[in-house]
Amino acid sequence: MLEIQKFTKIIAANWKMNGSINFINNFLNDLDDLTFENINDQSICIIICPPFTYSYLIANKLKNCYLGGQNCSLFLEGAYTGDVSASMLYDIGCQFCIVGHSERRTIFNETNNEVSIKATNSLKKNIHPIICVGETLQQKNDNRTKEVLSKQIRESMNDDSNNDNTIIAYEPIWAIGSGLTPSLDEIEDIHNFIKNEIQGYENYKILYGGSVKSANSKGILNLDSVDGLLIGGASLNVDEFNKILSF
Ligand code: PEP
Repeated sequence: MLEIQKFTKIIAANWKMNGSINFINNFLNDLDDLTFENINDQSICIIICPPFTYSYLIANKLKNCYLGGQNCSLFLEGAYTGDVSASMLYDIGCQFCIVGHSERRTIFNETNNEVSIKATNSLKKNIHPIICVGETLQQKNDNRTKEVLSKQIRESMNDDSNNDNTIIAYEPIWAIGSGLTPSLDEIEDIHNFIKNEIQGYENYKILYGGSVKSANSKGILNLDSVDGLLIGGASLNVDEFNKILSF
């Protein structure tokens, strides 16, 4: 496995259920070479998380970026039609897997316990889980963000997780795909809260996600407590993605 701590910044692209072979060929052609200079210093980690169907195609074409899954099965193998296991992801070259994305939690009713099992499966198969947590707008307005995040983190992480094998992504649900973001002070406050005040999660790498684009990425990345970004919509536009990567 990789040593997560050695990375100064981690940028993950979550393509969700978007893309095609044509899109991928164009995207990879247009991905800026500057990206690769950054990556060559080994301290920047760029992760592309395509839909499963395209993972293998990308695995064979990616230079200097890591490959990630967007989800993995609750089970390790067997009669689970439609599922993709953590070991299958590893087999085709994935080193990361997003688990507990808010779309999985809300649309597919994934619980913290299931997220924790998926994180365990990932770690067993040498994959670094990127565990997503975040509050709803209602919870934010009720001043419950920190309480909600503490519970999600404690229940979604597993005993095998440590700050060198697992990444946390703070993604306020109300910021995902909405064009809204918390203020820089709010992001800093929440990341520091997770790193310093939830016992056992000191020095975890924490990515911010939710409506990141080139216009706001530098400001967010410059925050001391932000170790990287998890990017949805803007990661599908290669020009935007190149700009974000040229920090
Ligand atoms: C996401 O889905 O993880 C995400 C952050 O999406 P967006 O960047 O589009 O808000």
